Amino acid sequence: MAPAAVGACLILSRRVLSGSVYTLTKRQICYSIPCYYRRYKALRFMHTTCRMSCEKTDFASVSKEEWVKRLTPEQYYVTRESGTEPPFSGIYNSHFEKGIYKCTCCGSELFSSEAKFESHCGWPSFHTALGANNRDESKTNVLRRPDDSHGMKRVEVLCKNCNAHLGHVFNDGPKPTGERFCINSVSLKFESGE
Ligand SMILES: [Zn+2]
Repeated sequence: MAPAAVGACLILSRRVLSGSVYTLTKRQICYSIPCYYRRYKALRFMHTTCRMSCEKTDFASVSKEEWVKRLTPEQYYVTRESGTEPPFSGIYNSHFEKGIYKCTCCGSELFSSEAKFESHCGWPSFHTALGANNRDESKTNVLRRPDDSHGMKRVEVLCKNCNAHLGHVFNDGPKPTGERFCINSVSLKFESGE
């Protein structure tokens, strides 16, 4: 993100907080890149400062049509229809730069590169969700859900914020958790920490 863009965001935030221009809660986000400010999560708004349309969106209520518009066909298939990208095909499968992996749909921070490991399974693998404290995932942005589809008993992993399907978690990972979050690259958006 360019420094100028961050500055613009900070100015906007002050306006927002003072209530002089917009009435927003902490769970809101501007989705336009120049105005992105990570403090506001879950919803999005566009504002006149960057001459974009003004809109509020609760990710839980985004319609199918809207997701189709926002995502690529592959992103839509994986994140909104619980699809799976082909093994060894994803851009983050053999990607080990330092940074944060975010939800491709809503920008929530999901995994740190520090928890990523080479599992040779064909998908990006993490042993811990970002913000987890041992087995306590209340401060993470991931959600677990039993998945009995395809004749298998698995545990699905979703984005807590927008319900995007991320992948599954298995009990064959390395220390410290012994778990392997097997995540689709197309569900993720990497932000470099360098
Ligand atoms: Zn999300």
